[in-house]
Formats: sequence, C-alpha cells, structure tokens
Amino acid sequence: MTINTDRIRPDEGRFAFVGGTYVESTGDAVVQRRSPVDGRELPGIRSCTPGDVDKAVQAARRAFEAKDWRGKTADEKKKILFRFTDLLQKHSAELALRDVLSMGKPIRDCLNNDIPLAIQCIRWYAEAMDKMYDACAPPHPGAIATITREPIGVVAGITPWNFPMENVAWKIGPALAAGNSLILKPAEQATFSALFLGKLAQEAGIPDGVLNILPGRGDVTGKALALHPDVDGVFFTGSTATGKDILTYAGRSNMKRVAIESGGKSAFLILKDCRHLDEAAQALAKNIFFNQGQICSAPSRLIVESSVQQEVLEKLLRLIPAYQPSNPLEEATTSGAMVDHPHLEGVLGYISAGRKEGGRLLVGGDRVEPVKGGAYMTPAIFTGVKNDMRIAREEIFGPVLSVLTVKDEQGAVETSNASPFGLAAAVWCDDINRAHRVARALRAGTIHINCYGEDDITAPFGGFKQSGNGHKEKSLDALDAYSEKKTTWLKLRED
Ligand code: NAD
Repeated sequence: MTINTDRIRPDEGRFAFVGGTYVESTGDAVVQRRSPVDGRELPGIRSCTPGDVDKAVQAARRAFEAKDWRGKTADEKKKILFRFTDLLQKHSAELALRDVLSMGKPIRDCLNNDIPLAIQCIRWYAEAMDKMYDACAPPHPGAIATITREPIGVVAGITPWNFPMENVAWKIGPALAAGNSLILKPAEQATFSALFLGKLAQEAGIPDGVLNILPGRGDVTGKALALHPDVDGVFFTGSTATGKDILTYAGRSNMKRVAIESGGKSAFLILKDCRHLDEAAQALAKNIFFNQGQICSAPSRLIVESSVQQEVLEKLLRLIPAYQPSNPLEEATTSGAMVDHPHLEGVLGYISAGRKEGGRLLVGGDRVEPVKGGAYMTPAIFTGVKNDMRIAREEIFGPVLSVLTVKDEQGAVETSNASPFGLAAAVWCDDINRAHRVARALRAGTIHINCYGEDDITAPFGGFKQSGNGHKEKSLDALDAYSEKKTTWLKLRED
C-alpha cells in the first residue's frame, strides 16, 4: 500500500466545527505533539476557549430548540445517518491515515477494526430509533401513566484516543438517535480524524448545530464544556482521574447528567481445571498486547492457580514474537507505536517501578525503534507480582502483563476483586458450575467465561467501582443514558 503521509494540512488544528461550518478557534493554548510513528512534528492544535465553547453551546441549543433534528421523522434521520456512515466508509483511508500519524495504531486495525466498528455502531443506533417503544405503567384504577423518552438537550461527548473512530461513534450514535444536539471534544491525540467528521456531517445533511466538534486540551476545552451551565449532559470516556474531575464540574455548575466510562485493571483468571490452556494463552496475549495494550478492558492481570502457572507462562512466551512492534503505516503490521513519547515514558516508568518493587521481568519492556524517532516498546510480562505493587493496582495502559499466583479458587476471586477498578474479567475453567460460581463472585461490568473481548454493539458495556458510574455504553442501554424519561398521568373520567 502506498500512503501519502502529508495529508494533514498544517493549519487544520486551528479550526473547530461549530454550527455547520469550520471556524477559527480563538485559543492560544496550543497542543504541539510529535507523531509516535517517526517523531515528525504534527500540526499544532488550538484549544477552544470558554468563549468558543459558549458559541458551540449556543449553536447546539438553537438547533435543539428549533427541532431541526429531533423534529424529523425517524425515517428522515435514519437516511441522514446512513449517508453519514457511507461517507465514513468512502473516506476511511483518509481517516485512518490521520489516526495512524496521530496515535500510532496499525493502519490495518484502523481500516479493519476501528472504522468498520464505528460505522456499525452509528448504523445500529440509526436502525434502532423506530424500534424502541415507550412504556405504560401497570393498569391503575382511574388513571393511566405513560413513561416516554425525550432527548436530554445539548450534550457533550468527551472522548479518549485509543480507538479514535469507535470512541466518537459510541457518542454520536446514541446521542443523535435519542434526538440530542452533540458537542464532541475529541482527545488531543486523535483530533484530526474527529475534526474531519464535520465535513462529512455537513455533506450527509446533519442539520447545522446538531454535531459540533471542539478540539483542545482537556483542562481547557473539556473543562469549559463540563462546567457550562447550558450543557445538559456530559458523556465522558477516559481515565478515572479525569472522570472524577468531570463529576465535580457537574456538581459545581448545573448538576448536568454525567456518564463516566473510565479505566480498568481487568483480571484474567486461569483455574487449574482449565483444559484449554493454549486457547487461554492466545486469548490473553491477544487482548493484553493488541493495540499496544492501550485498551480500557485489557486483561492486565493474569491470576493463575499455581499448578498450571508454568505451563501458561511457557505458552505465553511462545506467542510474544507475534506482538513485536513495527511501522504502523505498513499494511502487514499488527503491533504499532504507543500513542506518543510522553505516554511511552510513563509505561517504561512502570517497568522500572515493577522491578524495584520486586517483580521479575520475564520478557520485554524495552524501548525499540523499528522506525527511527518513533515511540515503540516490546510487550512485557512480570511474574512474582503481589497485589500491593503499583503494577498490580494501577492502570498502566500499555503492553504489560502482571502475573499473580494464587493457591485456589477463593484466592483467585479475592485477588481479582481487590482492585479499585471493575471493568471486565475472565474466568477460564472447564467445570461449568465452578465457572458460573466464580463469574457471579467477580465484581466487574463484563465477565467472559472461556473467552475474552467478545463485546459487540448489542450488549451493554461499562464498569463497576471506579471504572464507571453505571451509565452503559453500547446497546439500547445507551439510548436510555442519552434520554430523559417522563411520566405523564392522565386521570380517566367516568362520564
Ligand atoms: P484522559 O482522561 O486523559 O482524557 C480523556 C478525555 O478527557 C480527553 O478528550 C481529554 O482531553 C479530556 N480531559 C482531560 N482532562 C480533562 C478535564 N480536566 N476536564 C474535561 N476533560 C478533560 O484519558 P486518555 O488518556 O485520553 O484515555 C485513556 C483512558 O481512557 C484510560 O484510562 C482508559 O482505560 C480509558 N478508556 C475507557 C474506556 C471505557 O469504555 N471504559 C474506553 C476507552 C478508554
């Protein structure tokens, strides 16, 4: 594949998409980054100021009050959203290139995973719009109560960078299907693909002001959005620390609805009666090392019963060569760069911390340069990890697996649950009763039995504990999250 790698115009980062057109943002806080692929300087991104945010909120509010979007029939909205996804498909090479250069994901994963899943997500919600029914309360003597969904109003979507197109589609799909006006604040590390969507929204016929895109730093643009008194809801995906800030912004302003999907430290349990250790090792390696370990639900803790540990480790070591990083712009590459140089430094810091705290680095954890100037590291496995070490407790968000050994089922469950996070977990075990018992005892939003990463758009996704605050992404649950529910009582007269 020949790729023109100069297609992000130097001035693109100066713009925001507001009210159906690209406007220059006024901010002087510029995000300046180097590409993780080869260290080249990327165009700077101006951070939208509170004043820019206010203009976007006004544009979104105007569109909402005028019913430019929510006043259309489901059929009309569906046609527009389908046109939008057709355009995503048509421009997928352009979008993919922007993401590879900005955040280092292999181009094949952009084209075969991230963008197709984003398209599927928006189409799924477009299709769902006229298949959702509202409710009527159980019969009541003398009255009827209907329970109907309404859009919330103007909502903000603040997204991370690890699956750039899917992350924004998880906001666009349900927010628009529920009839809201949306203001997107994409991650600084994945801005250029999101910004490009403005042009596609216009071409598809999404009314002006219904989808707005504001680039910028989280603590400038994101914060201004979350504090804005006329934003009715903020839907956030990102780290737990930022999620906590967003909750306080909502409390300090207008008590807007807040939905948080945040970090994880998911456990992958292999119990001694698992008879499919090859399969287990493959599923584990694929899910902790895919996307350079930068996945919220990555199984970053292997919790294994001591009698099978050695065999599992031998199998994992044989799989490691398949996950060595190389140039993400090459079509054959399956493991690319870390998102950027500062994040790489942070992950390498965990490698040093793990060693200092007494973990044994079995393999990897080295900085490498398959492309000169890029941000790459080899996948790492630590053994001898104890639950009080930082590499067992904190989200590393890199290709680093911590192995914790336990004596029995009870130890496996206790160790797994002894975490501030609860996004996902897996149990590998061939005794179906035991598997179910353990699955019930695990405190996490998604449990996999003898598999991992089976999630799709039809099933709710979200975390327990500090991995989220209960509003789910994906599935029809997300439509509820983006809707108000109204109860209307009608008294029945006898005459
Ligand atoms: P992050 O919290 O640094 O940033 C996420 C978004 O929040 C970005 O757009 C950022 O600009 C914005 N932001 C940062 N500070 C802000 C502030 N003070 N006010 C408002 N907005 C602010 O996270 P990240 O590094 O972009 O993403 C990685 C994290 O995302 C990991 O913790 C990962 O687990 C999590 N994540 C979770 C899910 C999920 O579904 N649970 C999915 C993907 C990623």
